[in-house]
Amino acid sequence: MYWRKPLDQDKIKVPCGIIHIIEDRCKGCGFCVEFCPQGVLVMSKSTNSKGYHPPEINDSKHCVNCGLCSLLCPDFAIYIEDKGKRTPEKVETKGKAEEQS
Ligand code: SF4
Ligand code: SF4
Repeated sequence: MYWRKPLDQDKIKVPCGIIHIIEDRCKGCGFCVEFCPQGVLVMSKSTNSKGYHPPEINDSKHCVNCGLCSLLCPDFAIYIEDKGKRTPEKVETKGKAEEQS
């Protein structure tokens, strides 16, 4: 399927957030990692003081400050601070990608 690139894509601003993880509150349930729509978080290999694996940030620049991770966390172990807005990265359309190959 072909998606037309919006003509004003470079001018659109998307929100971004600063992620704060309070590791010692985490019980390693993984909700924040599983449901982040941007795939920003991964489970850490290290353990906190309770012996659980807390999440860690995989790629902070993709956080869109939706707040879903902090909403879902049963232990209030993660919260997001507003970092303002940024322009989206350039997105290759499928048509262009096919032309290059
Ligand atoms: S605020 Fe949204 S995009 Fe950012 S880490 Fe949390 S769930 Fe992911
Ligand atoms: S949702 Fe909360 S308790 Fe569960 S892994 Fe994420 S930070 Fe830890």
